[in-house]
Amino acid sequence: MPIYEFKCLECENMFEFLLINTQETLEMNCPKCECSNIEKMMSTTHYAVGVSGTGTGPKAQTRSCSKGSCTTIDLPGHSR
Ligand SMILES: [Zn+2]
Repeated sequence: MPIYEFKCLECENMFEFLLINTQETLEMNCPKCECSNIEKMMSTTHYAVGVSGTGTGPKAQTRSCSKGSCTTIDLPGHSR
């Protein structure tokens, strides 16, 4: 399942959201201040670059699914 990270431009709250359809971002609001002025923090590609091989960074996994390929991110130590 694709999980995306977002940042609220109003209160700078960062949160993660599971998106089945990326068009859902149009209807999303910040869970903290409920404004719709949010920015999508991408991407899986940026996470993967430069951290591979360290064993401590986020790991992106691409695998086959019904839509072709899905990318999931594993964020170690990313708890909230
Ligand atoms: Zn906010």
